[in-house]
Amino acid sequence: MNIMDMYSYQMTEQGKDFSLKTQNLPSLNDNEVIVKVAGCGVCHTDLSFWHFGVKTKHPLPLALGHEISGTVIMGDDDWINKNVIIPAVLPCGECELCRRGRSNICQNQRMPGNDFDGGFASHIKIPSKFLCKVPDSVLKKFPLEHLAVIADAVSTPYQVVRKSELEKNNFAIIIGIGGIGIYAAQIAKVLGGIVLALDIDDSKLDTVKNIGIEHCINIKGLDIKEIKSKIKEISKKAGVSPYCWKIYEMSGTKAGQELAFNLMTFASTVSIVGFTLDKLEVRLSNLMAYDSRLIGTWGCKPELYSEVLSLVEEEKVKIEPFIQTFPLSMINEVFKNTLGHKYNKRSILIPDKH
Ligand SMILES: [Zn+2]
Ligand SMILES: [Zn+2]
Repeated sequence: MNIMDMYSYQMTEQGKDFSLKTQNLPSLNDNEVIVKVAGCGVCHTDLSFWHFGVKTKHPLPLALGHEISGTVIMGDDDWINKNVIIPAVLPCGECELCRRGRSNICQNQRMPGNDFDGGFASHIKIPSKFLCKVPDSVLKKFPLEHLAVIADAVSTPYQVVRKSELEKNNFAIIIGIGGIGIYAAQIAKVLGGIVLALDIDDSKLDTVKNIGIEHCINIKGLDIKEIKSKIKEISKKAGVSPYCWKIYEMSGTKAGQELAFNLMTFASTVSIVGFTLDKLEVRLSNLMAYDSRLIGTWGCKPELYSEVLSLVEEEKVKIEPFIQTFPLSMINEVFKNTLGHKYNKRSILIPDKH
């Protein structure tokens, strides 16, 4: 393979195997760079495109993948040879929302593996503006490819925990300890919360305990009333305040959302992080009666990435126990196994052809 060549695995049709495409490296406009991909995480959003019928914004064929780390090899001089994490959502930086500090919901935002060819490739062309530089000190502790998960799985919960204004000793209840919840629990703890993890899977709750989250409940088969009384018991034992609870709905299920709303107490903040199309019937006036807040969150603004990276570097947020790597050439197998729930860690694909 010529040094100026690149390859990618293109999604051609829903549910079909990805097909290998070789091409020349694309030409660059101003403020664009080519990143040699170190690793790209497999996110549920990729499965939504590949299996669940969600349409990519760019027509197929398209390389998926938006959780990317790598090294800049072409483009602006300042960026050459820099190791970077590519934010999963690249804002324009100039519109009203960007100027208001809400760049994560910039309406001109572009997402790798959705608006243009993504990270399941040897190289990717990307605007340089919001790349997150990875300092060498971090790379002494972690291989660059492992840091790919910061682009989405770790940064999304970071933004919401910050946005919920979690304060020291607030009771932080995480509903759903999946690929995002596991980081939300750690981040809430690092930022001073007393964390309670709720899930229906004992193995997930064991993982949470292993990283030092003391309070867990398996809520399988319990109704809201039973869950509430168990939570009350724990909160009393732990001596946490009955007010100002921060509740994070990460499961993306109707049952999870119903529970989140019902756990609201005085001066609470309920954060909706998971997504479902299902609708819920709730008494919104509870918000008024409890003087509480219900908030949403979308991704993470690139401006916060360096803070997330610091938490990982200081090992306050652990990533290593929750990731596994595969050669990119195994993409078809990895997608099928992910869909079949065969993995309990997040997969990172690493380009293996040269
Ligand atoms: Zn994602
Ligand atoms: Zn913008």
